Amino acid sequence: MKSYNYGKQYLDEEDYQAVLEVLKSDFLTCGPKVKEFEQALCNYTGAKYCVAVSNATAGLHLAMLSLGIGAGDEAITSPITFLSSANCARFAGADVVFADIESDTANIDVQEIEKRITDKTKVLIPVHFAGQSCDMEKIRALAQKHNLFIVEDAAHAIGSDYKNTKVGSCRFSDMTVFSFHPVKNMTTGEGGAVTTNNEELYEKLLAFRSHGMHKTGEMQNTWEYEMHELGYNSRMTDIQAALGISQLKKLERFKTRRREIVDFYNKNLGLPHLFEKEFSNACFHLYPVLVENRKEFYFKAKEKGLNLQVHYIPVHLQPYYRKLGYKAGDYPKAEAYYEKCISLPLYPILTDSDLTFIIKAVKEILQ
Ligand SMILES: *Cc1c(COP(=O)(O)O)cnc(C)c1O
Repeated sequence: MKSYNYGKQYLDEEDYQAVLEVLKSDFLTCGPKVKEFEQALCNYTGAKYCVAVSNATAGLHLAMLSLGIGAGDEAITSPITFLSSANCARFAGADVVFADIESDTANIDVQEIEKRITDKTKVLIPVHFAGQSCDMEKIRALAQKHNLFIVEDAAHAIGSDYKNTKVGSCRFSDMTVFSFHPVKNMTTGEGGAVTTNNEELYEKLLAFRSHGMHKTGEMQNTWEYEMHELGYNSRMTDIQAALGISQLKKLERFKTRRREIVDFYNKNLGLPHLFEKEFSNACFHLYPVLVENRKEFYFKAKEKGLNLQVHYIPVHLQPYYRKLGYKAGDYPKAEAYYEKCISLPLYPILTDSDLTFIIKAVKEILQ
């Protein structure tokens, strides 16, 4: 029987060749291909600087460190996200405050953010859920009013546009973080990247990526280096970067197909789904629908070869965050969304006949 996951990577001969070329070259880790990939991401997003990293979780962590976020500070993010959007603030010693979502997009609600701002708030971490950008202009206005940093968690949103600019341009934020995990819109196996227009943040990201080491002036010609801050090893390899360069060339094609599939589902399924706002032109990463009796739906789908996933268990309900004081009822819209959401297969190599099969299967389950 054919089976479908909720997401899947697409690699072709070009991708294989790109990786093979690096394997036969002198550099395996952070070398010329990483630089080339970073430049390609700058060209694509319009951002001035880019730092490729080992994964988006590391990217979010380094972003917090570069902004100097630490103990006593508060970061505001969405409860409907992957763990990393919140954990990154905890890595840096800061507290996490969640702000409830808007039900129609499942993105963080700007008014809810404003209610949660305190004297301790330092950074907003909006998550572009399912690929659709948050309303960054409004979030930017709020951040300016309260003197806050913005780090966009764009793990879902490489390829997406907001008001005719690419997500990652950092037109309305300090930094944007992408993920290239295989389920995301394009892949490097594991991998991520941080874009910024701020040279100082860029230099800090570079240092934090590699042990806090600096080589300046004369040092470049000798063995010397200096460590100024406590950095990590969050480097991307040239092997991954070569795959990234090759995948990025296909991203617009992936996007076109992803949007076609979303259109097809919207027209043919008749299930409650996310609403795309007029400012958005998303490279959709997920297609969540709302169903009654979600658990039953999940298991029946499995029997029919559909291996679906739920995005996400609200982060504040995780035992770790409950221990920090969060509880059921704190974020009613996020919790209501979670009760019914389930993500259907969405990835570029799904054919029209795959879609027909999936739609038929879903309709049979719901009968
Ligand atoms: C996948 C994901 C991450 C983490 O990405 P990794 O590259 O796996 O570390 C962070 N935030 C969101 C919203 C994600 O979906």
